[in-house]
Amino acid sequence: RIVYVNGDYINEHDAKVSIFDRGFLFADAVYEVTAVVNGHLIENEGHMNRLARSCNELELTLPVTIEELTHIQQELIRLNQLDEGGIYLQLSRGTAGDRDFAYPQNIQPTLVLFTQARSLLDSPKAKKGMKVVTIEDIRWHRRDIKTVQLLAPCMAKQFALSQGYDDAWLTEGGYITEGSSNNAYIVTEHNTVVTRPLSRDILHGITRQALLDLGAKHAIKIEERLFTPEEAMHAKEAFISSATTFVYPVVEINDQPIGDGKPGPIAKQLRDIYIDLVKRQSAS
Ligand code: PLP
Repeated sequence: RIVYVNGDYINEHDAKVSIFDRGFLFADAVYEVTAVVNGHLIENEGHMNRLARSCNELELTLPVTIEELTHIQQELIRLNQLDEGGIYLQLSRGTAGDRDFAYPQNIQPTLVLFTQARSLLDSPKAKKGMKVVTIEDIRWHRRDIKTVQLLAPCMAKQFALSQGYDDAWLTEGGYITEGSSNNAYIVTEHNTVVTRPLSRDILHGITRQALLDLGAKHAIKIEERLFTPEEAMHAKEAFISSATTFVYPVVEINDQPIGDGKPGPIAKQLRDIYIDLVKRQSAS
C-alpha cells in the first residue's frame, strides 16, 4: 500500500513518524475517515469541515488547504486503485524536541493518510443487524472534537465483543450518548426516529447530518432528544450510522430483542436512501 506522510507518497513499510510526535505521546491529534465508493469520496465536504472545526478547537493549524487535502485523498485513492473502503487522515500537532505538555511553538504538524479496502455497499451486518450492550461512557467531555484519544471506545468495543455483542452503546447520566464509533438512533411506536441532539457529549456525525437531511426530504419524522437505555430496549427499531457503515440496524439491546428482533423498515429505508446518495456521489 502507498501511504502519505508529510508531502510524500511512499510504501507503507517506509513510512515513519518520530517517537516524539505529540500524536504518539499525548494523543494530540485529530482525524477523519471518509468512505470511498467506486473510487469517489463520499460526503467529504462534511468531513473536511469537521476536520477544520476540530483543528480550530485545538489551535491546530492545517499545513495544507482543504483543496490540497482533497487532492491528496484522491491521489492516494488513485495510487492504491481503491474502489471501495475508507480513507483515514490524521493530523497531529507535530514532533517536538522533548516531551512537554504545553503546545510547542513553531512546529510542523504531522499529516498522514492511508487507504483501507473494505466492502461497504454489501455488508452482512446491514442484513443481519447488530446486538449492542449499554455501558457507561467514560470518555472525556469534548467528544465533539474528533481526536485520536480513542482508548475508552476501544475498551467499550472490546468489552462488547468479549461478551458476545457486536458493539457498545454508551450511557451518561442515565441517557445514551452514542455508539463506540457511531451515532445511535431508536424509532418510537409512532415511527419517529429519535437521536441525541448535538452538543459536546457526542461526535457530530457527518452521516447523522446527511440522514437528518434525507429524512426531512422523505417525510421521515426525526426528533433530536435524549433517550434512555430503557426506552431503547422497548423501541420499535434501533440503528446506528457512521461514514463506513452507513446505516446498520440494531436488533438486540442488552439481550432484549428490538421489535420482532429483525432489522426494521425505517432503518432499511434510511440505509437505502443513504445508499442512493452514495451512488449519486460515486457516479461518473
Ligand atoms: N460517533 C463516534 C464516537 C464516532 O467515532 C463516529 C465515527 O467514526 C461517529 C459517531 C459517526 O460519525 P461519521 O458519520 O461522521 O462517521
